[in-house]
Amino acid sequence: MDFENNENRIITPDFTETDKDIENSLRPKTLNEYIGQEKVKENLKIYIDAAKNRGETLDHVLLYGPPGLGKTTLAGIIANEMGVQIRVTSGPAIEKPGDLAALLTNLNDGDVLFIDEIHRLSRAVEEVLYPAMEDNALDIIIGKGPSARSIRLDLPHFTLVGATTRAGQLTAPLRDRFGVILRLELYTPEELAEIVKRSAGILDIFTEDDGALEIASRSRGTPRIANRLLKRARDFAQVMSNGVISRDNAKIALGRMEIDEKGLDNIDRLMLTTMIRNFNGGPVGLETIAATIGEEAVTIEDVYEPYLMQIGFLAKTPRGRVATPLAYKHLKLDQQTSLL
Ligand code: ADP
Repeated sequence: MDFENNENRIITPDFTETDKDIENSLRPKTLNEYIGQEKVKENLKIYIDAAKNRGETLDHVLLYGPPGLGKTTLAGIIANEMGVQIRVTSGPAIEKPGDLAALLTNLNDGDVLFIDEIHRLSRAVEEVLYPAMEDNALDIIIGKGPSARSIRLDLPHFTLVGATTRAGQLTAPLRDRFGVILRLELYTPEELAEIVKRSAGILDIFTEDDGALEIASRSRGTPRIANRLLKRARDFAQVMSNGVISRDNAKIALGRMEIDEKGLDNIDRLMLTTMIRNFNGGPVGLETIAATIGEEAVTIEDVYEPYLMQIGFLAKTPRGRVATPLAYKHLKLDQQTSLL
């Protein structure tokens, strides 16, 4: 991922240094506090209640969807609702099978083990996970060569919560071992406005309803971005007026950050105009777009495209990506603009 670029992007959904101070205080702790994702919440509630009634651990859960939508938050909520501890790690952090073995043997009975970016686990580490998920067992090889033998250790019962932006990249054997697979969707502006108001309450920021909705509708469906824009809008409201975020000063703040009414930033606009000007609006292949605008294909797929597709500016076809008439209209380009 082109990290430097994303770090500088105020609307990157990835976690950045600037989110550190607020992210934990803003995380909802219970399902009731968690706004939106109604289907996911309803199902989870049933699974959690049923597991609790039976006095069992919850089945392993896979959460997938674009970054910043609340996967880590949900893992914490699952642990909290089940009344157990959570251990947090990530795919790239578990380098060797031994690292995972150490994590697993240190769990207490019933604990949640959260592995973010689970699609980035190495094959060797995944192999350790299979018997752990299926039989609560750890297979250890002792010795080398012909005298090597395998012994099986019992592990505590635990719930693995895996999070990924790309469920398609998970190997089939790993995916099949999750009993519950939940997909998080981008949030509507109304849901995000609720999240903005909730966060404003926690951070002692005054917002008018219109101001919250203005921020929400430019946050590309992503709570992490909404919270970040709320903080920036507060700075503008403080310097420019009485500190209350109104629709007017939110508009000015977002305009200064070069985020337009649809939540697009320079890179989104560059991507769409490039497609329109150089490729007649498409179809154009992902790799070609990536090379032309100097971004990584994965970043485009995970970060830019989900939102552009949600607002109907971009369509995926078997022959490549296409800029829709809505995108032309928004960018004030007509169908004759292209060079071809
Ligand atoms: P992910 O793990 O999917 O990248 P996080 O769980 O870290 O996303 O969420 C990012 C931030 O967004 C968190 O600080 C949390 O406060 C906020 N957030 C996410 N989902 C919700 C929600 N449904 N309601 C309220 N706040 C949320």
